[in-house]
Amino acid sequence: MTGSRLWWRQFAGASTIVSLFVLSHLPAANLVKEWKSGIEWPEPPVVDPGPDTALPVPPPSDAIILFDGKDLSQWTGGEDWIIRDGVAISAKHSISTKRAFGDCQLHIEFSTPTPPKGRGQGRGNSGVYLMGRYEVQILDSYKNKTYFDGQCGAIYKQYPPSVNACRPPGQWQSYDIIFEAPRFDDEGHVVKKAVITVLHNGVVIHNHVELLGATAYDRPPQYRKHPAKAPITLQYHGNPVRFRNIWIRENIAPLKGRKSKSTGTTKGASSGAANPSGSVAGLRRR
Ligand code: MG
Repeated sequence: MTGSRLWWRQFAGASTIVSLFVLSHLPAANLVKEWKSGIEWPEPPVVDPGPDTALPVPPPSDAIILFDGKDLSQWTGGEDWIIRDGVAISAKHSISTKRAFGDCQLHIEFSTPTPPKGRGQGRGNSGVYLMGRYEVQILDSYKNKTYFDGQCGAIYKQYPPSVNACRPPGQWQSYDIIFEAPRFDDEGHVVKKAVITVLHNGVVIHNHVELLGATAYDRPPQYRKHPAKAPITLQYHGNPVRFRNIWIRENIAPLKGRKSKSTGTTKGASSGAANPSGSVAGLRRR
């Protein structure tokens, strides 16, 4: 081996060691490659949802209270978030409910930091993960552009919200989420995909949409069999997003009726046909 070849070998060996050291000490996020769906979405039109005066929405009598302003005892890791003036402020890490949920109606109120800091995904980022896997993005998307399937209200990397109903940072906002969990067979195949409806500040932004799988930054959506119920996660993404008034209802299945013997039209019942002016007048009488 010539002197120059030996020098090159030694140099290459040393630089490999240095590279490995640097890579192992970089934050993990720097190593993660972003996955993109390749779908070009139109920009969701901005809709002014009106002021936040209708909030907070009182929980109905059959709701399970997940946060009432006092503490986060219903949440694993909740002791590391800040509770101040009846509000929970995200900090340190994400938190998950101690109870597991499947099909549900979830109400949550949030407020992104003011004055706003950062831009794009770095402004007011958090998220609601149904079953710890399916994220409805929380972001300050008030005059803050980012990729549309990652803006506030997006099913992350799957669907943008159909409209942008964000309030300005600092104001209270709400999500009302109706979620049907996916169903799997014994072999782990999905036999019914998860379905979601979301109202943002009272405005429908997803209407009975089928999810494509778990939401992730670095890989395409995919279903992997999981239990019928799983905890809900609130994301900490480095921004102090505020939360209050979180409640959930589990009983969202339609009632099941039982067919009785008396079916069909009952004798003597009135109808629009008996009313010469038509059914509209009939409806007015009620
Ligand atoms: Mg997020």
